[in-house]
Amino acid sequence: MAPYEIRIIGDPVLRQPAVDVTDIDGRLVALAEDMVETMYAAPGVGLAAPQVGVQKRLFVYDLGDGLGPRTMVNPRLLEARGEFSWDEGCLSVPGLSWEILRPDEVHVVGLDLDGNEVSIEASGYEGRVFQHELDHLDGVLLVERLDPDQAREARRLVRDLMLARDASPEPAPRRGLTLR
Ligand code: ZN
Repeated sequence: MAPYEIRIIGDPVLRQPAVDVTDIDGRLVALAEDMVETMYAAPGVGLAAPQVGVQKRLFVYDLGDGLGPRTMVNPRLLEARGEFSWDEGCLSVPGLSWEILRPDEVHVVGLDLDGNEVSIEASGYEGRVFQHELDHLDGVLLVERLDPDQAREARRLVRDLMLARDASPEPAPRRGLTLR
């Protein structure tokens, strides 16, 4: 069983901006490892700390490029260029996806789990993953990136999703609540 239950839209933790990581220590490394395990179990290609109830600026990802799971700590978007449309989904909005237009090429900087500076220029799918996870750290969900027609449809679908969840019995225990 995955270490964390992924928080679902409607959970206020997903709407709060996360704070910078101040110490890259064993505890943070353990958090990243648990996030990776949770991401693979979902399965997903990226997971941001607020999605497991932790208000810290880091995300994990694995693009399936053979490089394995990686972690970005305190990531910042330096530059974004072009346009790229992609059918985008989110583990916190399960079962739904929308064609969303965002910049194509991005330049993201941050730190890895050894505290080394990382600078990545990405485009297409990879650039999309970074932008999506960066949004999570600012308390932004993909439903806020929709055009007016999509947003109307999304309100209905998300309401149904939340009602279905409320109607389901006994949620799984949430380990994330004990973390800061
Ligand atoms: Zn997401």
